[in-house]
Amino acid sequence: MYNTTYHRASSVADAASLFGKSDEARYLSGGMTLIATMKQRLASPTDLVDLRHIAELKGISVNGSTVRIGAGTTHYEVAASAELRRACKAIADLAGMIGDPHVRHMGTMGGSVANNDPAADYPSAVLALNATVHTDRRRIAADDFFAGLFETALEDGEIVTAFEFEAPAKAGYAKFPNPASRYAMTGVFVARHANGDVRVAVTGAGSDGVFRHAGMEAALKANWSPDAVASQSVDAGALMSDIHGSSDYRANLVKVMAKRAVAAAG
Ligand SMILES: Cc1cc2nc3c(=O)[nH]c(=O)nc-3n(C[C@H](O)[C@H](O)[C@H](O)COP(=O)(O)OP(=O)(O)OC[C@H]3O[C@@H](n4cnc5c(N)ncnc54)[C@H](O)[C@@H]3O)c2cc1C
Repeated sequence: MYNTTYHRASSVADAASLFGKSDEARYLSGGMTLIATMKQRLASPTDLVDLRHIAELKGISVNGSTVRIGAGTTHYEVAASAELRRACKAIADLAGMIGDPHVRHMGTMGGSVANNDPAADYPSAVLALNATVHTDRRRIAADDFFAGLFETALEDGEIVTAFEFEAPAKAGYAKFPNPASRYAMTGVFVARHANGDVRVAVTGAGSDGVFRHAGMEAALKANWSPDAVASQSVDAGALMSDIHGSSDYRANLVKVMAKRAVAAAG
């Protein structure tokens, strides 16, 4: 047994202050990853700073073409938002594919992206939508945020507060879920932006976490159709091999999911 002191933060500033006063604190959001990690004794924080009751971290807003999702917004709320579905249906669809109803009602977008599990769904959306990650200290471009397996650009004690992006002209997500956990064996998010740029982000497959596929981006920019990605090569050497699937199998999944994502985008 070990002692953990629970703190309920009332604001982002309060959370940062509580974190700063603790020895080895961790922020708690939905707890869907952190509590399980603590039960397995893979983490034993001296203090838990609960972000769940902070109003400023919650909610979805769409102003013109600018979409903002608070870090404390649950997967269920993202999936259920009619406003978000109008602006970017693909990210709402993605949220609806995460785990099971319990996970979707507790887990948050901020917790998922801060955790940067290589098989999590949201990192692909953040990267393909070219979102800006807002924190209590700064704004971080998606291309600068993800730094490898479970690694991000976040500094010690930094709090993700929101995600902001411009509604894409078209976007789609497709994933091949692990039949047991529902995490992505491979998931591909494609987005065509208002300026014509195309971004393709792959999760669940890369041995270094989420990544963009430059070849597919160029092919889709020239010809936005599912067939455009079929001729693209996917380097299996850069992909994961584990008990769930080999890197060759995942390389094939990347192409298949990319085709489905473009078809879903329309
Ligand atoms: C059975 C099961 C199935 C799942 N299936 C899927 C799936 O299909 N796809 C998928 O993507 N995910 C899946 N998940 C993970 C789920 O989406 C979690 O909700 C997510 O990984 C973590 O979010 P959370 O809000 O629960 O964060 P927590 O567990 O509370 O925190 C996770 C980490 O992020 C940190 N953190 C939390 N919030 C912030 C913040 N605002 N700023 C900075 N750091 C923060 C915490 O300190 C901790 O280190 C599954 C989980 C379970 C248990």
